[in-house]
Amino acid sequence: MPYITINGERCKGCGLCTIACPKKLVAMSETPNSLGFTVAVFSGPEMCTGCKLCAEMCPDVAIAVFKD
Ligand code: SF4
Ligand code: SF4
Repeated sequence: MPYITINGERCKGCGLCTIACPKKLVAMSETPNSLGFTVAVFSGPEMCTGCKLCAEMCPDVAIAVFKD
């Protein structure tokens, strides 16, 4: 089952990945990282297709996509 990981220390909280995901599987948390940015979180792999749109959209290369 495909899934993603989000590196919270690279995330700048721009929210672009939340717009990019066609399944709406990425949301913004209310928890800041060490730089004070509220970071994106993955809500679960059940509907993830591994399409990589979220990762391709991220300007900070914070998202990794895994296919298995
Ligand atoms: S890989 Fe595709 S379906 Fe999975 S979280 Fe990213 S944009 Fe959404
Ligand atoms: S696109 Fe990247 S930097 Fe922007 S909120 Fe998503 S993970 Fe964070």
